[in-house]
Amino acid sequence: MVDAKHSALHVRPGCRAPETPRESSVQARARQRTLLPQQYLDGILRGDRTILAQAITLIESTRDADRQLAERIVEDCLPHSGNSIRVGITGVPGAGKSSVIEVLGTFLINEHRQKVAVLAIDPSSQISGGSILGDKTRMSSLASSDMAFIRPSPSRGSLGGVAQRTREAMLLCEAAGFENILVETVGVGQSETAVHDMVDFFLLITLAGAGDELQGMKRGVMELADIVAVNKADGTNLRAAEKARAEAQNALHYFPGSQSGWTPRAVTCSAQTGSGITELWNNVLEYTAMTKANGWFGATRRSQTQNWMHEIIQQGLRQRFESHPGIRNRMKALEKEVLEGRTTSFRAARELLETYSDVKGVER
Ligand code: GDP
Repeated sequence: MVDAKHSALHVRPGCRAPETPRESSVQARARQRTLLPQQYLDGILRGDRTILAQAITLIESTRDADRQLAERIVEDCLPHSGNSIRVGITGVPGAGKSSVIEVLGTFLINEHRQKVAVLAIDPSSQISGGSILGDKTRMSSLASSDMAFIRPSPSRGSLGGVAQRTREAMLLCEAAGFENILVETVGVGQSETAVHDMVDFFLLITLAGAGDELQGMKRGVMELADIVAVNKADGTNLRAAEKARAEAQNALHYFPGSQSGWTPRAVTCSAQTGSGITELWNNVLEYTAMTKANGWFGATRRSQTQNWMHEIIQQGLRQRFESHPGIRNRMKALEKEVLEGRTTSFRAARELLETYSDVKGVER
């Protein structure tokens, strides 16, 4: 035992010991845990962004107790959700997503007097441990508005798990009165499809001269877009942006028409000068009005909800399967056997599945 006087943690007389961050975060969690489900609901319904953020933290938690509470909160919020426009925004890094969101969000707050929530799905954050999307520092003026709520991507879990948490966060934001939900994702990997499947309208932000391949035009992302916006249409880039817009418009013609009745469009905009931002939003409003009138809007949301049910089942089964102690231990051994060629992947998978159903049978 170290003598207190000679310890590095020794406190000089007369100096107040600073609170350690560890203590304060523990206290913050403890405080957070004292809230009852009804208090979360009340807080969210009156648009309290601190309580909203705490509830989303519960959604993202891996602790069973937090998850249970989160589920209850989501269920309680469900009847109050849905009253928003959900817009997905994608584009390669550097295309100007956060700049456009900053300008568009500020426009919606100032001109439409509406609240804006920005959520993000960033699959790369699982690898890097940090999130490159939805970062408050990238949208500083929007972040300072009390009519905005910005939340980075959940950084843990599979893409399916991350998407599920973002969908739940979206429902809570709607219950908190956010009329506009912007879900941002990077133009890499499968995340565009995940975002497309949770929004009403999908916006692809591109750049002049960055190459079709790079911008996902040949990867089917363009096929998902309701609007392609060529950003940075300003200064000396104006003509190149207009040319890129015409090319994108031309490319959009090759895709089969959507059953929504909407013909995807290509526009130009500039987050720097603000030009084209009003027109961009007018397109979203036009789309919404049209698809609400012809029933597509509601039908899509209903089928999305049905798909979410299946995804939640898949997530749940996978999580239960992988976290089961009997499976976990055997999984490691079988993985090794498959790697060394001592068994086939089919046989290993079948054994694990059979083990799981046997265990489940015994538990019942
Ligand atoms: P993100 O990675 O897609 O979120 O892109 P950012 O919004 O971070 O923008 C990348 C860079 O492009 C930043 O240096 C921005 O200042 C710049 N930028 C974004 N929008 C515009 C624009 O409309 N015009 C010009 N000239 N630059 C822009």
